[in-house]
Amino acid sequence: KIASTITHYINSLKVSEHYIQVAIPVPMRQLFTYQVPDALGSPAIKVGERVVVPFGHRKVIGIVIDEQAQCNFDVSRVKNIAGRLNDNFNLSTPLVNFLQLCAHYYHHPIGDVFQQALPVLLRKIDNITLSPPMVWLAESRDEKANDILAKLANKAAKQYALYQIIQSHHGISWVELRMLGYNKAQLNALQSKGLIIEQEQIASQYSWQKDTLNKADKLRLSSEQAIIVSAINNALTEFSCHLIDGVTGSGKTEVYLQAMETVLANNKQVLVIVPEIGLTPQTLSRFEQRFNVPIALHHSGLNDKERLATWLSAQQGSAAIVIGTRSAIFTPLHRLGLIIIDEEHDSSLKQQDSFRYHGRDMAILRARQLDIPIVLGSATPSFESLQNALSGKYRYHQLLNRAGKSNKAKIALIDMNHQQVEYGLSGTLKYEIKQTLARGEQVLLFLNRRGYAPAINCQECHWLAECQRCDKPYTLHQKQQLLICHHCGSQKRIPPQCPSCGSVRIAPLGQGTEQLESRLGELFPDASIVRIDRDSTRKKGELAKLLQEVIDKKHQLLVGTQMLAKGHHFPDVTLVAVLDVDGALFSFDFRASEQMAQLLIQVAGRAGRASKPGKVLVQSNYVNHPLLQDLVHNGYHHFAHQALTERKQALLPPFTFQALLRADANYPSYPEKFLRALTQQPLAGCEFAGPVPAAMEKKAGKFRYHLIIQAKSRKDLHRAILQLLSQIPNNEWQGKVRWSLDIDPIDL
Ligand code: ADP
Ligand code: ZN
Ligand code: ZN
Repeated sequence: KIASTITHYINSLKVSEHYIQVAIPVPMRQLFTYQVPDALGSPAIKVGERVVVPFGHRKVIGIVIDEQAQCNFDVSRVKNIAGRLNDNFNLSTPLVNFLQLCAHYYHHPIGDVFQQALPVLLRKIDNITLSPPMVWLAESRDEKANDILAKLANKAAKQYALYQIIQSHHGISWVELRMLGYNKAQLNALQSKGLIIEQEQIASQYSWQKDTLNKADKLRLSSEQAIIVSAINNALTEFSCHLIDGVTGSGKTEVYLQAMETVLANNKQVLVIVPEIGLTPQTLSRFEQRFNVPIALHHSGLNDKERLATWLSAQQGSAAIVIGTRSAIFTPLHRLGLIIIDEEHDSSLKQQDSFRYHGRDMAILRARQLDIPIVLGSATPSFESLQNALSGKYRYHQLLNRAGKSNKAKIALIDMNHQQVEYGLSGTLKYEIKQTLARGEQVLLFLNRRGYAPAINCQECHWLAECQRCDKPYTLHQKQQLLICHHCGSQKRIPPQCPSCGSVRIAPLGQGTEQLESRLGELFPDASIVRIDRDSTRKKGELAKLLQEVIDKKHQLLVGTQMLAKGHHFPDVTLVAVLDVDGALFSFDFRASEQMAQLLIQVAGRAGRASKPGKVLVQSNYVNHPLLQDLVHNGYHHFAHQALTERKQALLPPFTFQALLRADANYPSYPEKFLRALTQQPLAGCEFAGPVPAAMEKKAGKFRYHLIIQAKSRKDLHRAILQLLSQIPNNEWQGKVRWSLDIDPIDL
């Protein structure tokens, strides 16, 4: 009693002490209070500063969220911060606020949100030494240089092209050139010829001006496009969300570029988010060619130093444009004036593990916070965005026609039940391929299944090689002579004999891209074939190289997975064939049809992009399926409106709001019991669906269950999740399962 009174008394003396609240990279949904000893108290600690704090037996980096906090604990147990990093890599207050909003929206541990938003090097306690960013510049040209260049133009086209790019810029970084498909050897060659030099980038702040913007190939906008550009540019200092719904090739990118111009001319920065930047170096080169301003890239192909360099150039304002994948929404842009989300329907904008945020949705949040416009673009808008546009929440802009000379390609179905099929190709398709090749044009064959065959089995006893950890068939990779599980990554040698009956008659079942490639070689021996999928493009720079070869017409037949569906512009592809669309037709996930439709339309968009007319053929065993019929005859929008009506009647998103609680464990009963216990208390305004086994009930040896929480309003959902989370510590199964929360899940 006396001791506690004394502690109390001591505490009351400590009120003038300095406490701060810090976000720490631990999986807890809370901030931590620390004390700042006098010795570390000046200069004054600021919000967004990185501090070193003791946590357990470790020292970690935390971000200051509240620089003058109350201490609501037993003061004697509050620890001192261990150090400050004083290195100017602090987060701005708006960014701190934004990240807090993100954590709040997804009910995700705040420390982890900061952790994911920070470049790796800023999460380490070691001092960072950063070499200044370097850029390549063209040397001034004399007669000798002109001679060399004339020779290059004939003999080394790639080096010549590289020189042209460098010359058209006031400094371009190696990171960008690499992304554009060039290598160090080419750079060194030009350097040794005295044509280019490498220099430190001058970080002059906000140096880009109206007259330095490169408008060389600015197009005259159609009136449809002009209306959109002025709608965006009319109110640059307030929040507005624009959906540009326009078929592939309708001129969306041109709209982005011209809307950006005004923003850049105001010395503001632009953030451009694309689904997978490595897949579309062409988009990057269009930004490159249009604007004479520093562009910083942010994507998974960067190393830690490059990533930090992007982060810094965005923060300090030396980058005018940041182009990146979803996590680029966390870049600290100092004077952000406009956000663009290209291919806003793309599921890769949603992170599918740990912090499951949607890049588009958080970008909208950020635009709202900063009072700036945001532009979403797609040929196949997500149902969420479409509904928001139709209901007037977003400004809705349609681009109904292809820009320039190209026409929209026609989609036709091929009924596989009435066809002679060889190697997965119908007679009709083979005929069309032959015709196209004869005209000297290119063919794209889309098969969303990499590897040689999706399974192997015994021809005598029908034994199927299955991954024990997932209960799913192994995919055969012929070239590597391996069986690989595409769900957990486990690998196995191909058994010489059937382990069940001993037969040696083991054969591949079904077809993947690797097999298709070799079969096409037999059928069309005169054509050069290129395969583009994750396996064939693993090497850095390989994808850019292959894409360039396609554009240079080194190949006539292109085989690929969904990597080939995205944003590419192949002027000479006039025939696109989708070999197998059936898988998606019978899924129980209500989003599968939306994704199938988007993929089909996106693939179809690769046909006839230039002046030549295009054709799209879709092979199916179920050509009368209403989804396919609607999509092919009435187009994506009719299909989408229909599907939205159905979702409204069925009370599904986007008309309701969902959260998904996933749980897994080594035994099937644990996750189920864990989730079931949570359904015992009703949640106001919410309904439960489940728990049910996940679509893949077993993965990597774990049994997986789902529980869906659905509400009519976001507020109700939010409150319900808080309630659920508060119950979990008392759940008797919680120690036996691994669980995770997914707000606005997009796959089940
Ligand atoms: P999207 O981004 O919708 O696929 P793009 O902006 O890439 O469309 O435009 C498709 C093609 O049409 C490009 O080659 C582009 O240069 C051209 N284009 C776009 N807008 C115009 C225009 N106003 N006039 C002429 N050509 C245009
Ligand atoms: Zn057998
Ligand atoms: Zn597996």
